[in-house]
Amino acid sequence: MVSSLTPLNGHRLVLGVTGSIAAYKSAELVRLLTKAGAEVQVIMSRDADRFIGPLTLATLSGRTVLSDLFEQTATASSWTQHVSLGLWADLMVIAPATAQTIARLAHGFADSLLAATVLSARCPVLVCPAMDRDMYAHPAVKANMQMLRSHGHHIMPAAHGELASGLTGHGRLPEPEAIRDLVSSLIAGGDRALAGHSALVTAGPTREPLDPVRVLTNHSTGAMGYALARALARRGADVTLVSGPTSLAPPRRARTIPVSTADEMHGAVLRHAAADIIIMAAAVSDFASARIADHKLKKQGETLQLTLRRTPDILLELGRQRKPDQILVGFAMESQNGLENARLKLQAKNLDWIALNYTNRPGEGFGAGTNRVTLLSRTGAVIEIPTMEKDMVAEAMLESILSAPA
Ligand code: C5P
Repeated sequence: MVSSLTPLNGHRLVLGVTGSIAAYKSAELVRLLTKAGAEVQVIMSRDADRFIGPLTLATLSGRTVLSDLFEQTATASSWTQHVSLGLWADLMVIAPATAQTIARLAHGFADSLLAATVLSARCPVLVCPAMDRDMYAHPAVKANMQMLRSHGHHIMPAAHGELASGLTGHGRLPEPEAIRDLVSSLIAGGDRALAGHSALVTAGPTREPLDPVRVLTNHSTGAMGYALARALARRGADVTLVSGPTSLAPPRRARTIPVSTADEMHGAVLRHAAADIIIMAAAVSDFASARIADHKLKKQGETLQLTLRRTPDILLELGRQRKPDQILVGFAMESQNGLENARLKLQAKNLDWIALNYTNRPGEGFGAGTNRVTLLSRTGAVIEIPTMEKDMVAEAMLESILSAPA
């Protein structure tokens, strides 16, 4: 698990609990969040009290549990409660979130106190779905979750395992500890700890031309690097993102420098090599064509021989010329002997941290929306970041990189 997470001291959380059998876990979640120092206001959906008693949640949170949009004893302030709660919260968590609640939120319904509060919220919203396997896999639910992401909400992927129906699959509410850790990461992401610091991130593949038509490249989408650039910018860093060709929108709060080849990336990175934090997430091609043909290579014979040259190892160069106090982080994408190879790279390239991910596991690495990372430090720390959306992985990575001296 991610270590040394920010305590939630003084942070205000709204916890939405909806009508799923997994609602029993919300009691433990309230306990963990309050233990970490948060003030927790529970809002239950109409059917949630069929699964867990409001008295349990009220006792654990030390606050009256809310549920009704139209309170029995109407007062002027009770009607605008959703607005004040939306402004009060530093973060909203909905755990468990049923397919019904996800559909309501995706489409902007305001027919319950919980839904209206989400619409009023100015803070990040974390949605933790829990439902049966086939519901979770249904295209309608997937589309609704995608819509929530496009509204800027965070989704914590459901865990895999035994479900209340007796089936096994994806759909379980993650354990309360994992939800608490993610809440901590998201809260930490809202701080301005990096204001006044500069950061450089590389992302995406490089594209090495062979002739005017063909290129040598790889399957990197750039998503992990872009997520890191956003996470650094959220913490107030002045971020430069050197990006190979991707189809991603440039992060709003970073300066994006588009490049195509490893040589171009090398040049752009060296111009920003004085940054306080450098994270090299790009999948840089190790080879480029020794000679780029002026015209399209013709089909002649059954084989074609290409001569490739090594491209500059940008990270190696940064490691050699690094300034004191700079934080230098690399990635290692391995298909076998991952830990061993990553440790060798960490040393050879003089890094503080290396993030190991694998090419051949589902939900990890290139192209997947999610990633799982083992973070290794110069001093021997090994931090496992479980499979999560890449934005969340980026938060968890920064949490470790910034809190512990390498
Ligand atoms: O390719 P390799 O596995 O050695 O990549 C490890 C790290 O080195 C990554 O962070 C990658 O961005 C960086 N790298 C680089 N220049 C290269 C190759 C890799 O900066 N030519």
